[in-house]
Amino acid sequence: MAIQAPKGTKDVLPADSYLWQHLEKTARESAMLAGFGEIRTPVFEHTELFLRGVGDTTDVVQKEMYTFEDKGKRSVTLKPEGTAGAVRALIESGLAAAAMPQKLFYLNCPVFRYENPQSGRLREHHQFGVEAFGSASPEMDADVVSVALDVLKKLGLKDLSLTINSIGCAQCRGAYQEALRAYLRPHLDQMCQTCQERFERNPLRILDCKEPACKQINAGAPSILDCLCANCREHFEAFKRLLEKMGVAYRVDPGIVRGLDYYTRTVFEVITRVDGKELTICGGGRYDKLVKTIGGPDLPGVGFGMGMERVLMVAQAQGCVFEKPDVCDLFICTMGQAAKDKAFELVHALRARGVRADLDTMDRSLKAQLKYCGKAGFPRVLILGDDELSSGQYKLRDMRSSAEQTLSEQALLAFFTR
Ligand SMILES: [Zn+2]
Ligand SMILES: [Zn+2]
Repeated sequence: MAIQAPKGTKDVLPADSYLWQHLEKTARESAMLAGFGEIRTPVFEHTELFLRGVGDTTDVVQKEMYTFEDKGKRSVTLKPEGTAGAVRALIESGLAAAAMPQKLFYLNCPVFRYENPQSGRLREHHQFGVEAFGSASPEMDADVVSVALDVLKKLGLKDLSLTINSIGCAQCRGAYQEALRAYLRPHLDQMCQTCQERFERNPLRILDCKEPACKQINAGAPSILDCLCANCREHFEAFKRLLEKMGVAYRVDPGIVRGLDYYTRTVFEVITRVDGKELTICGGGRYDKLVKTIGGPDLPGVGFGMGMERVLMVAQAQGCVFEKPDVCDLFICTMGQAAKDKAFELVHALRARGVRADLDTMDRSLKAQLKYCGKAGFPRVLILGDDELSSGQYKLRDMRSSAEQTLSEQALLAFFTR
């Protein structure tokens, strides 16, 4: 039996790779426009990094990581998210001690979660993300949000809405957790098993629960926004003013807390609609304690991650049109060995001039070659046989209009490089 791809993975074939290339180009341009530089980190890291950097009370660390022992008996883990690796690199490379801020982005970052594949979210999926270190200012939060929205708008995604919240700092969150526990305690026996487990360790995560019974109870929970300390409140107000200045509409939702432990203050999600259903396509926030937690200096940070498969899925569902480039500019059909030799020479002369050209390498009949050109979608075809070789005049056929013109070799090269 043929070997199949593992569950939760997906191949990208040439027929679809232009979608990825368009997304990559758009994301890279938007990030660089805002002064972010690209970082690439390894696919696996020491497990310890994620225990510290993601938080050992999270579902990600408790249930979803691809962790294994390598042959040297070290525990390594395939990246379950993009931020911890970037922070590790920031510290290790000395960038954490360089001029601030450090604005980084990553693209096509493979991320692994051992979970049941959901729509647009596979066991191996890819993320685009930005991380800005060194600035605690709300301007940086707004900067990061603007990159996310810029990419999604340029891709043509519709029905985008921004939801924001502040989850406070170490000072004010403690008081809120107490207030939240006091509210939840009498309802605890009606809540799901997961929420009951979270109650002591990480009660904020209970607000994320999608179980109907829990959701109903959560609706009456006290709002963290009422518990923010003066500094956090000021930070959140300034962030909102900056969004307004950028003309970005937002909705404040005290229910969004994000799944990871390291967030402080600002958290946000970009939501869209597909078939009437809401779908989160980007999530991020501020993580002022993360760099220190991982062993670096006390550097604030803010960033987001965007699932690339999910963005492409939404783009397709919403009918966004990405231009599909032709596979090649020209295909040369040949009859006979002399024509084949000439075609080989021409193809390489054209490629040297930046023209995407190809020729038959299957020793097919002219009819079969033309049939192949039609199927593969070549926009233009050149037909070379003994007559064309002796006259030095080549027939160029436009496959879409079927129009033909006769050109000398010089004219042909000029036609494609004008
Ligand atoms: Zn605070
Ligand atoms: Zn629950």
